[in-house]
Amino acid sequence: MAFKKQRMVLQFPAGTVDEPITYTLIKEYDVMINILNADISHGREGSLLVEISGEQESVEVARKYLKSKSVKISPVVKTILFEQAECINCGVCSSVCYPGALEMDRESRELHFFPEKCVACELCIKACPLQLFELNFGAN
Ligand code: SF4
Ligand code: SF4
Repeated sequence: MAFKKQRMVLQFPAGTVDEPITYTLIKEYDVMINILNADISHGREGSLLVEISGEQESVEVARKYLKSKSVKISPVVKTILFEQAECINCGVCSSVCYPGALEMDRESRELHFFPEKCVACELCIKACPLQLFELNFGAN
């Protein structure tokens, strides 16, 4: 059976914020939930950025449970933000960027960023000594 790992934003309607929905998911639906970010307050809508993992079938059943609770599920779209103006063109990031989204120009010795090639693997975030990369989460 296939193992599935999925990042998503869960938006809880005001009436469900106090229900133990994530606990129920783990206990009853045999999925693991890693909460990456949370914005929840008593009595109003809340949202969680989570990574849900488990057998594909369990993840699908868990999604159905969430929908039955009127929780809105949005797949996460990750993009990389880059402060290019601060770059010193050291080239470290281009050596870890396997899809070729970051490349050093051999003649000008300047870094070029091709966002359309980026797979949001996050390796450049760890590699850049000036911390010029940042992960941007959005949901669609
Ligand atoms: S996130 Fe990965 S693919 Fe995207 S620019 Fe950084 S190293 Fe390259
Ligand atoms: S590692 Fe940082 S400073 Fe070096 S080239 Fe890449 S973005 Fe520029």
